[in-house]
Amino acid sequence: MMSKNIDWSSLGFGYVQTDKRFVSNYKNGAWDDGVLTEDATVNLSECAGVLQYAQTCFEGLKAYTTEKGQIVIFRPDLNASRMADSCKRLEMPVYPEDKWVDAVVKTVEANIDWVPPYGSGATLYIRPYMFGSNPVIGVKPADEYQFRVFCTPVGPYFKGGAKPIVIRVSDYDRAAPHGTGHIKAGLNYAMSLYPIVDAHNQGFAENMYLDAATRTKVEETGGANFIFVTKDGTLVTPKSDSILPSITRRSLMVVAEKYLGMKVEHREVYFDEVKDFAECGLCGTAAVISPVGKINDHGKEICFPSGMEEMGPYTKKLYDALTGIQMGRIEAPEGWIKVIK
Ligand SMILES: *Cc1c(COP(=O)(O)O)cnc(C)c1O
Repeated sequence: MMSKNIDWSSLGFGYVQTDKRFVSNYKNGAWDDGVLTEDATVNLSECAGVLQYAQTCFEGLKAYTTEKGQIVIFRPDLNASRMADSCKRLEMPVYPEDKWVDAVVKTVEANIDWVPPYGSGATLYIRPYMFGSNPVIGVKPADEYQFRVFCTPVGPYFKGGAKPIVIRVSDYDRAAPHGTGHIKAGLNYAMSLYPIVDAHNQGFAENMYLDAATRTKVEETGGANFIFVTKDGTLVTPKSDSILPSITRRSLMVVAEKYLGMKVEHREVYFDEVKDFAECGLCGTAAVISPVGKINDHGKEICFPSGMEEMGPYTKKLYDALTGIQMGRIEAPEGWIKVIK
């Protein structure tokens, strides 16, 4: 097989149509076997549940070429179980978790030439998602659903190294207590678009959302969890029922403790304590870790000692260890890496 003739290092984070995608339909209470198809379009009723009442959820994970030339995916079982949680909360049928991982594997296998080579910095982003597909006009769950998996090559998130970003404390809320903040629902993103466009217009890269009930505790950004490091090298990550449980964050907690010998705390984090941390970062599949240099709280700046030039030293160690595991340079904990080829 020949890798596609693409300038991998100049790819951005955008959609590129690849050869095949997986499609399975749910009807009369059961999922069909699913097929790989070249058809990249979705044909839907004008009244489909997803179009009227946003009944949809998604996942995001990546395939990598390792140093030894294997093609692997990272902890897909956690994406499968998180999507099952999302489906349950949205009254959608769960796609069985083992078959979910198989569908992801099949999709990557069918697009194997699209997996960027080791060292290019690019990866193959995989997007599994589900939506209500039959007509729904009275407010209720759909009776029919479609589960799809497509993939698209994405460039290195940071071209020329990860520069720290400036973020702001948002006056908008991301998720209500007992709401849907903990699931990967499209609706959480729809309502985050206004605040993120506004943040960008004001010169900020991201919004820091606080807890909606008291506005005293750190939640997350629109699409990434926070990590903090104390002056004495403890990794602190915010805990809340309305935060999306990031697989990157959960993996970094293990890496910090087991590989770097750091102390790890997963607990409520008050905004008042943020000024005392030595390092701050955002974590998620897309960028792994984006270092945060400054937080703007209504004109008052919190400047982390790690500065605006480079990642803080602990953040860098965490980043190198996790990407080392993903790229096969460092031995992974049992069960973290699924080899496709
Ligand atoms: C997807 C997502 C994340 C990151 O999760 P990963 O599993 O690490 O990719 C964080 N916050 C929100 C709101 C998300 O949707």
